[in-house]
Amino acid sequence: SDLGPWRALPPPALPGVGSSETVKRFQTVSVPGHPFPVRTILKGPLRGRFLELGTTLAQSEVLMEGFRRTVGTALALMLVGGGLVGWGLARRAMAGVERVTQAARRIAHGDLSRRVQPGREGQEIVDLAVAFNRMLERIQALVQELKEVTDNIAHDLRSPLTRIRGMAETTLTGGEDLAAYREMAAAVIEESDRLVQTINTMLEIAQADAGVAPLCMSPVDMGGIIEEARDLFLPAAEEKGVVLESALPDGPLWVRGDQARLQRVVANLLDNAVKYTPSGGTVRLAARAADEEVLVEVTDTGPGIAEADLPKIFDRFFRGDKSRTTPGSGLGLSLARAVVRAHGGSIEAASSGTRGSRFTLRLPRHTGTPPGTAFST
Ligand code: ADP
Repeated sequence: SDLGPWRALPPPALPGVGSSETVKRFQTVSVPGHPFPVRTILKGPLRGRFLELGTTLAQSEVLMEGFRRTVGTALALMLVGGGLVGWGLARRAMAGVERVTQAARRIAHGDLSRRVQPGREGQEIVDLAVAFNRMLERIQALVQELKEVTDNIAHDLRSPLTRIRGMAETTLTGGEDLAAYREMAAAVIEESDRLVQTINTMLEIAQADAGVAPLCMSPVDMGGIIEEARDLFLPAAEEKGVVLESALPDGPLWVRGDQARLQRVVANLLDNAVKYTPSGGTVRLAARAADEEVLVEVTDTGPGIAEADLPKIFDRFFRGDKSRTTPGSGLGLSLARAVVRAHGGSIEAASSGTRGSRFTLRLPRHTGTPPGTAFST
């Protein structure tokens, strides 16, 4: 090519005269007066001469410059745009977290009624808000229950203590009659026993509810428990003029459970049925196996349970208005429910509201080998 414009190209460095060294060298050099670098190749010696070829890098430099500019602009735009979008997204996500944080702060100040509004920040934040609200509902229900239980405990312990104090005071101010003192001591013992009984039942319920009750599990025949309970309550029922009936299948009804506690559950249900059924009424005990469950039913022809009371009768210390004249602590059904739940079962009550109630107990059926059958032929 015409090397005219490249006169200023510096002469290449060649091996000294007499050297046998051959040269093959690529070089990129800048030529004064030429705006672009030049790429050269030097080869030799070929018959005593060196050959230098060169080409300007103008075309590739222009291309590279355009490329650099385009990529640089795109990169800058991506950085700015990505930063802005990221900032926006983070702000949106954090807004949800911020609302949860604020709700947590309000709760820390005792306002359990607040809830986090699920916004539109994304599914994860909505899930967080929903889970947080559910946790709040549970805590609020527990606090409310705790408050009611505390109120009830205070009320139910205060009454017997006031009675004990009243008896002691009356005896003290009544003179020095030894018989009166004896009578007072006997009454104090009776009241104290009842108090201790109430406290023990409360502890039992709390333990069973919390799942820490020491249950002595073994295969238990519910049919046998019902027969024993029927025999135990028969004299009291007869005395009251209440008919006690039972309907049981021929074979045993195995469940896995704590015999003593299950006996107590059946006794509590039967005690209530006989207690609330007036003379001339009937109490019916029935049990049967159904699929994976053993069902126990205690039905009576008593006054029934008001519809509004039905959801509350299993609460601690709840006593129906009609039952206030009958002795009781309001803990029997709570204990029954806590024990049955600890056994993986359920208990429910049904009533027309004016006549008769039915309590249904469901316990998981024991399908393993019942005791005493391991070596039978
Ligand atoms: P208590 O019998 O000591 O009052 P429970 O916990 O056993 O306590 O029962 C709670 C309430 O449920 C009773 O006060 C009563 O109002 C109602 N109840 C329970 N069983 C019956 C029943 N068989 N018939 C009518 N009401 C019942």
